[in-house]
Amino acid sequence: MTVVSCENVMHIYHLEGNEVIALRGVDLQVEEGESVALLGPSGAGKSTLLWLLAGLLRPSAGGLRVLGRDVEKLGPGALTRLRAREIGIVLQNPARNVFAHATAAQNVANAQRIARSRRASRSRPVNELLGRVGLADLAGRPAGRLSGGEQQRLAVAIALAHRPKLLLADEPTSQLDRESADAVIDLLREAGAENGATVVVVTHDPAVGAAFDRGLTIRDGRVGTEARDGNEYLVVGRDGSVQLPPALQELLPPGTRARARALPDGVELRRVHEGEDG
Ligand code: ADP
Repeated sequence: MTVVSCENVMHIYHLEGNEVIALRGVDLQVEEGESVALLGPSGAGKSTLLWLLAGLLRPSAGGLRVLGRDVEKLGPGALTRLRAREIGIVLQNPARNVFAHATAAQNVANAQRIARSRRASRSRPVNELLGRVGLADLAGRPAGRLSGGEQQRLAVAIALAHRPKLLLADEPTSQLDRESADAVIDLLREAGAENGATVVVVTHDPAVGAAFDRGLTIRDGRVGTEARDGNEYLVVGRDGSVQLPPALQELLPPGTRARARALPDGVELRRVHEGEDG
């Protein structure tokens, strides 16, 4: 089953009368059980894409299906139920993932309780989940009194608590030391391997990128490259555009006139030099 399907998805923010184009036509399919890292420079549109997949934002244009649903057509109630039952989310700001006054254990138990699904009833016990993220000793502490890194680990435990079919995480290791980050990466991978969950993670951490099936680089609101099985590929956009790797951009700087020529298995681009026309 295709769990995530984006067709020419665009997103524009309206900010004090200005438009910020965050996504300029994203085409992306993620199949059940796949793990995908979204990489790329700051401001490229990664978080926006994740928020769209979570139904926390709606696309300005394009088609978006998540877990077989047309997200744009779901009302707020249906979206909330979809998230509670089938999606686990780790937002970038750790404090936004937790109820500050509830203990760490209550936060995890709460996510299981509100999911009320058969899948959730087969999930790991709260203490085991907290142990996996190194928080067993802090189970009784209010989440608001945990450090940023501890809240981030708790957020991962909460997001996995109901055995989601789709796990979405925005920089889930940004505040963690290497050891804790590796424990979180292991948990995310296990969610895929044991529960068949599909995992999409925004990350700057090369270790996360390397641990996942596919690494997509988002640049300027589009998918530029895809890494899989140790190879990196350019992704051709629906308008025929490609984002050249930085080393090749030097050979064809912006505004360069080039000729495209068909080759048996692709296309060659050659720069046209001054006076070479005609
Ligand atoms: P990334 O996650 O790759 O750093 P984002 O998705 O956060 O990128 O941002 C993409 C673009 O959208 C950036 O130009 C950013 O400034 C802009 N942006 C993000 N959130 C908002 C917002 N709430 N209002 C206006 N512009 C935003």
